[in-house]
Amino acid sequence: MTQIQTFALRLSALRAQFGQAAAPAIAAALQQMSLTRAVLLATPGHAEQAHDMAAQIGPSVVAVLPVAQMHTPVEVTHHALPHVLAAKADALISLGGGSVTGLGKALALHTHLPHIAVPTTHSGSEVTGILGQTEAGRKTTMTDARLQPQVVIYDPRLIATLPAAITVTSALNALAHAVEALYAPDRNPLTSTLALQGAQALITALPKVLENLNNLEARADCQYGGFLCGLVLGQVGMGLHHKLCHTLGGSFGLPHAQTHAVILPHAVAYNEAAVPDLLAPLAAILKAETAGQGLYTLAQSLHAPQSLRDLGLAEADLDRAADLATQSPYPNPSPLEKPALRALLQAAWEGYPPKPRGYHG
Ligand code: NAD
Repeated sequence: MTQIQTFALRLSALRAQFGQAAAPAIAAALQQMSLTRAVLLATPGHAEQAHDMAAQIGPSVVAVLPVAQMHTPVEVTHHALPHVLAAKADALISLGGGSVTGLGKALALHTHLPHIAVPTTHSGSEVTGILGQTEAGRKTTMTDARLQPQVVIYDPRLIATLPAAITVTSALNALAHAVEALYAPDRNPLTSTLALQGAQALITALPKVLENLNNLEARADCQYGGFLCGLVLGQVGMGLHHKLCHTLGGSFGLPHAQTHAVILPHAVAYNEAAVPDLLAPLAAILKAETAGQGLYTLAQSLHAPQSLRDLGLAEADLDRAADLATQSPYPNPSPLEKPALRALLQAAWEGYPPKPRGYHG
């Protein structure tokens, strides 16, 4: 008997452009939307690049605000807001990684201005209506359609300056979205197809980028892969992997993308026995017996961080991390049990390969 697939799709009015040089693409996007007073956002470390970009775009950029900080602190948004208002801005442009995109989203929410995102990492934030921000050291996440940038411009030339280590960890961060989308309870045929395509693009292109950081074709393939992974993050709910990374980043101050790199093989191994069929296509792309093992080998070959110890987590904190990650229930293929999670965290802390049959028993 055939089974009718029941699912719903949310498609946002997002315009994404690939491959073109960013400055003329931004200028054209502003013109198409009749916008003449854009404020360009960046981090302090990329102020010079931001001023350069503003000069290339032309007079439709009226101010450059290089104030974005890691994890989008609310105080930074409140500091930037009066500058945006004083500039009588009619558009926001974010030039940078997830931290700058986050500031653009937070300001767009306050001002209702259109947001053109020009990502320079693979975090995928630019294609979601999700905002993670920090206030008084606590990270909170909100979802709102108004957070979704209207235009996203992917220019491989901008990402060619991204150092190898950040390229890898940010791409593994994107890959994690695709991986958890494969077993998300609200997945649908489209999200699974996009997730596998995104994973395939990243897994194929990353080694080529590492061989030559200026390989613009491979850089563009990674951007495409990251885009697909970001799309699925905006479509379906995430599970254990994202919860663990959120806990480790939010409560123990571990760096965002590196933590994703360490946890992913273990979170997948934790879930794989419960959903082997859903992860088999990923294992096939990784040319590995199991997806967990394949992801560990991939991270190793890309010289990604592999242990929480190396990221600065104290072994004494593992118990509390396991407690925090089991405090509020959320959907996940394998049951969330503290002893199993504690075993996962220990293996990730040591930098061991994931357990082939998972962490239950
Ligand atoms: P990031 O934006 O913090 O950037 C990491 C580092 O890379 C910074 O030092 C930055 O200056 C540098 N950098 C960025 N682009 C560069 C380039 N082209 N050349 C040289 N250096 C460059 O890191 P990220 O991983 O992109 O973003 C992390 C943030 O994004 C976190 O706060 C995370 O929560 C958020 N995020 C949000 C979503 C979402 O959907 N809301 C998704 C993923 C990540």
